[in-house]
Amino acid sequence: MGTIDNLRERTRGQVLTGGDEGYDEARRVRNGMHDKHPRVIVRCENAGDVMAAIDFARTNELDLAIRGGGHSVPGFGTVEDGVVIDLSVMRGVRVDPATRTARAGGGATWGDLNDATHAFGLAVTGGVVSTTGIGGLTLGGGIGYLARGLGLSCDNLISADVVTADGQFVVASEKDHEDLFWALRGGGGNFGVVTALEYRLAPVTTVYGGPMFFELSDATAVVSGFRDMIGDAPEQLGGFPGFQIAPPLPFIPEDRHGDHFALIVGCWAGDPDRGEEEISRFREFAPVVAEHVGAMPYPALNSAFDALYPMGLQHYWKASFVRELTDEAIQTHLRHAPKLPSVHSTVHIYPIDGAVHRVTPDGTAFAYRDANFATVIAGMWPDAADNEANIDWVKSYYDDIAPHSEPGGYINFMADDDQGRIRDNYKQNYDRLVEVKRKYDPGNLFHLNQNIVP
Ligand code: FAD
Repeated sequence: MGTIDNLRERTRGQVLTGGDEGYDEARRVRNGMHDKHPRVIVRCENAGDVMAAIDFARTNELDLAIRGGGHSVPGFGTVEDGVVIDLSVMRGVRVDPATRTARAGGGATWGDLNDATHAFGLAVTGGVVSTTGIGGLTLGGGIGYLARGLGLSCDNLISADVVTADGQFVVASEKDHEDLFWALRGGGGNFGVVTALEYRLAPVTTVYGGPMFFELSDATAVVSGFRDMIGDAPEQLGGFPGFQIAPPLPFIPEDRHGDHFALIVGCWAGDPDRGEEEISRFREFAPVVAEHVGAMPYPALNSAFDALYPMGLQHYWKASFVRELTDEAIQTHLRHAPKLPSVHSTVHIYPIDGAVHRVTPDGTAFAYRDANFATVIAGMWPDAADNEANIDWVKSYYDDIAPHSEPGGYINFMADDDQGRIRDNYKQNYDRLVEVKRKYDPGNLFHLNQNIVP
């Protein structure tokens, strides 16, 4: 019991240890800063494999990391000398068009899910990049283009298959293990390994949108224009303002590649015939320097920026919720955004309103239903030699923006040095999360996350 051989006998999926073929590839996560050597990586193929891996970690008192899409900025999907439960093989998606639901493996990405549901003219709120895992993103909340109309990803969760810390399999939903289901919708990977997620879908096929670049000198008008307009705009209008260095793309004039811009990425998910009119609301803020806007399948918009975020970049992010995006806050952004140090780095200010506000603050673990925006300062750059300069930029930006923001932030946009903000992230829901943690994981087996300490 408890040996690697025993683990191999119990699992159908690959069990990789140092020196095995494929081990080095399997230990990589998206954030290149986390170059760790797990004792064992279990490429689970079913819930039984997950149970075996959990038992192995518990018996041997090893740290346990859960990995879905591998996008965790703090690198929670890997661990030095511990056990990694890698769900990337469990990515099948079944869509039921009659009930407008989809059921996906815990290691599926948004690309997997969106492609499958698009075939039926359906979609659910997901992230803005297709390579991100549905597991980590949904369990933390789930902010994306469709959130104003459909709510967060977690608001569309119907049920989750979960293997808990004692190796038991449970199905959590509104009717079963309701406490666990409540905690999973915002509480992250604290409560178990989710081997499948079932979502409610909505009709979304062609969307109208894309990125629009504005001069930095117009940034005040762009960001304040977005702020003033979005709350009253139809909920099918999604997107976000932000800041970005122009990548070398054909639709941007060549002599502007590498320049700093204010940006809006828009997404109209209503009647496509109204797309141009709805997206033109953004054009009223200031002249557009370059844009790539039009009608496209939703999965195309969802994967449009994938190339900016390849495997292995260094990542350091900070985040806050914002109730009121004041003029002073916008001026503070403008002091730091022109110093954006890398074409991969970005700042996004996501609207949190519409359907997200219709869920009560204690309806799910995701607590900031009264915020109006979620800001992320996302530092990403290729060369580890530039770590200090890039991390300094994120930190000083965040330090200046913090007084204009709520104390808490969105757990999925935060760094590994943000554990001190956990209580603030969950506000009124924190104590209840601790209760659920004590019930399902009293020994804190699942501690490599934005941790709710039991
Ligand atoms: P992983 O590193 O695999 O997992 C992170 C953690 O989530 C795990 O350690 C575990 O604690 C938990 N977890 C993951 N899967 C499971 C599971 N099946 N069961 C139990 N726990 C699990 N967030 C948004 O809301 N909207 C966005 O548009 C968005 N865009 C992003 C773009 C990029 C390029 C990146 C790097 C991140 C983005 N994020 C976004 C943040 C994203 O939500 C988090 O990084 C999230 O943790 C990624 O999930 P993952 O499964 O890919 O990551």
